Amino acid sequence: MALAHDGLPALRDVVAAHGLAPKKALGQNFLFDLNLTAKIARSAGPLEGFTIFEIGPGPGGLTRALLAQGADRVVVIERDPRCLPILAAISEHYPGRLEVVEGDALKVDLAALADGAPAKVVANLPYNVGTQLLINWLTANPENPFWQSMTLMFQKEVGQRIIATPGSNHYGRLGVLAGWLTMADILFDVPPQAFTPPPKVTSSVVQLVPRTTRLPCELSKLEHVTQAAFGQRRKMLRQSLKPLGGEALLTKVGIDPARRAETLSLEEFCALANAL
Ligand code: SAM
Repeated sequence: MALAHDGLPALRDVVAAHGLAPKKALGQNFLFDLNLTAKIARSAGPLEGFTIFEIGPGPGGLTRALLAQGADRVVVIERDPRCLPILAAISEHYPGRLEVVEGDALKVDLAALADGAPAKVVANLPYNVGTQLLINWLTANPENPFWQSMTLMFQKEVGQRIIATPGSNHYGRLGVLAGWLTMADILFDVPPQAFTPPPKVTSSVVQLVPRTTRLPCELSKLEHVTQAAFGQRRKMLRQSLKPLGGEALLTKVGIDPARRAETLSLEEFCALANAL
């Protein structure tokens, strides 16, 4: 078997040797290009001294890049048991630096695993649960998040929703939540052909870092308002926010009841939440 520059076998050979046919139900679109996985790992910034969480390592392309670039503690969470022997071989190649957790990332408490140590999340997320995972990490403990940055691959459309600002078609609950808690950016796009098998759409690597100061507001109330407002995004706010006080609530905070959800700034959403 040909060896890659990290001294481990080429990813395509690893996958073939283990008969790891990609499963759609697990959102398995693998990256075999170690230059690309190295680019993603580099874009996460310094890795040494951090616990790096990677969700869905699969055959380990990104995992290998993170380790090759000096990460001294990588914790991966993988649901597919077929990947475990592959990950064990990577762990052997980098003794004491890779911990493999078998399980569903939706049920794993990353904050508990970080145990107060500085952490980053770097992952090519399974698309079927990517948004839910992000929401879990954003809302786990907004006062004191366990992560210092998250560098995550999503479908491009999800990336656009994360970074969306008022007036954009992509602006919705996710944009308000991410905008309230983080500074978020799309770092670069990745075309479908970079993956095996290729997905139908372009992907984007998004980076989120927590805001040091953010508008005072209670998470549950903010979610309440955005859920109602964007639940009927084509309607005027006087109608969509009726169950929360409608026109009276809007006038109290000086918002024209004839406006629609997608025109409201973060400040205005927080003002509404605070007035509930
Ligand atoms: N990181 C690899 C890469 O870039 O080639 C694989 C990325 S692939 C898009 C997503 C990975 O997440 C797959 O390995 C899949 O088995 C795993 N996965 C899917 N659902 C998961 C879940 N709920 N918890 C943990 N891993 C999951």
